[in-house]
Amino acid sequence: MTETNVVICGAGIAGISAAYFLAVRQGVRDILLVDERDPLSLTSDKSTECYRNWWPGPGDAMVALMNRSIDLLEALAVESNNTFHLNRRGYLYVTADPTQKIKLLRSAQEPPSLGAGELRIHEKHDHGYLPSPPEGYQNLPDGADLLLEPALIRRHFPYLSASVIAALHVRRAGWFSAQQLGAYLLEKARLAGVKRIQARLLEVRVQHGRVQSVLLDNGQEINLRTFVNAAGPFLKTVGQMIGVELPVYSELHLKAAFKDTLRAIPRQAPLLIWTDPQVLEWTQEERELLADVPEYQYLLEPMPAGAHARPEGAIDADMALMLWEYHTEIMEPTFPPPMDEQYPEIALRGLARMLPGLRQYFGRMPRPRLDGGYYTRTAENRPLIGPLPVEGAYVIGALSGFGLMAACAAGDLLAAHITGKPLPHYAPAFLLERYQSAEYQQLLNTWGDTGQL
Ligand SMILES: Cc1cc2nc3c(=O)[nH]c(=O)nc-3n(C[C@H](O)[C@H](O)[C@H](O)COP(=O)(O)OP(=O)(O)OC[C@H]3O[C@@H](n4cnc5c(N)ncnc54)[C@H](O)[C@@H]3O)c2cc1C
Repeated sequence: MTETNVVICGAGIAGISAAYFLAVRQGVRDILLVDERDPLSLTSDKSTECYRNWWPGPGDAMVALMNRSIDLLEALAVESNNTFHLNRRGYLYVTADPTQKIKLLRSAQEPPSLGAGELRIHEKHDHGYLPSPPEGYQNLPDGADLLLEPALIRRHFPYLSASVIAALHVRRAGWFSAQQLGAYLLEKARLAGVKRIQARLLEVRVQHGRVQSVLLDNGQEINLRTFVNAAGPFLKTVGQMIGVELPVYSELHLKAAFKDTLRAIPRQAPLLIWTDPQVLEWTQEERELLADVPEYQYLLEPMPAGAHARPEGAIDADMALMLWEYHTEIMEPTFPPPMDEQYPEIALRGLARMLPGLRQYFGRMPRPRLDGGYYTRTAENRPLIGPLPVEGAYVIGALSGFGLMAACAAGDLLAAHITGKPLPHYAPAFLLERYQSAEYQQLLNTWGDTGQL
């Protein structure tokens, strides 16, 4: 039997960030990070690595959490000479549909009222619109620019479909290297004394309502004062080890990378998001073939909005990423996650509506790389960060599709909970105990947009 102060189960971005903020920023000693896998190898390396402060309500909790996280990311980028390649190219939400344009305009009013920066509407000219540089993250606008004149949109984004009638450019947004960020935080945590064990957590022993020890599959039992559940897709299973049922479930999300040798997605582009539902384009022959196979018939039906893409890697590289959740599957996480071999071609066709240059790849895309993982999430798509109803036990998880962008603020918030430091105003929004409030339960019944991409 050994002894330590804190055991964190999970060395994904959540567990690593928790270790970093506890050890480096709060000076907590004797922290053990337990993971049966290599750090960042389960979900945190499958991400699109994008970030944004543009989130819906109710309330400003998500915007405030993301603003804090991006403040921390920017400070870490300065301190590390931007070792994790933070950029600020933004997210560009585009539509070709007049109804969708009205929705875009309406929904774009909310984040500014919650602290995401001002909304600048450009109807006829682009005075005051500052395009995003491909590199760099400082001295750039926040908020968003809504371009409503097609000619203006074409001037700045000539590679988009001529059918686009509105484009919302969200500015405190972009992407970075998750592996590099995680490696940087982990190394700093190691230098501050955090130890790692590669083992599977089998059991958490609880006595008199308090965590006592953890049992690992290498036979070790470790006494502890504080236990942190940062188990990502296994959040629920690890929660059950201390007798706490966490209200989370997992959705399978895939991602395809391919060599865009024809530069259909320009190297300097922001993250590009098609906000329109659509029916995919097929030739008559393809339609007939699909109609004959029952499991492919859905490909002839209307498909959901949200196909998105971005260039990946250095400006002179040629990889691009494509994502489109055209059928969301809720499932018990299994590894490796089940892949859908049709996904790259379907995502490509969905994206071609926005990026016509992609049509050149129909039926002959350079061999794509397909991967994916789970969005482990709560119903309203807000994380769980804070104490659990067992003394000494905490959770940092349900990070859904925003775990990279939220990681720093989530680790910072968890460390404040554990050390008893003053909590930010958004802390209550992420507590497990929020579900005990009848008012919150009622709110859940009428919850609108969850901000999920
Ligand atoms: C396709 C896709 C795209 C995404 N895009 C974005 C994006 O653009 N921006 C963004 O911010 N986020 C994005 N995300 C979400 C983001 O990747 C996740 O929210 C984040 O990685 C979750 O981190 P985590 O540390 O909670 O989980 P994980 O990275 O899964 O880490 C959990 C760790 O816990 C360990 N563990 C679990 N149980 C045990 C046990 N019993 N014993 C020992 N170890 C255990 C596991 O081995 C694992 O290493 C995306 C996710 C996917 C799948």
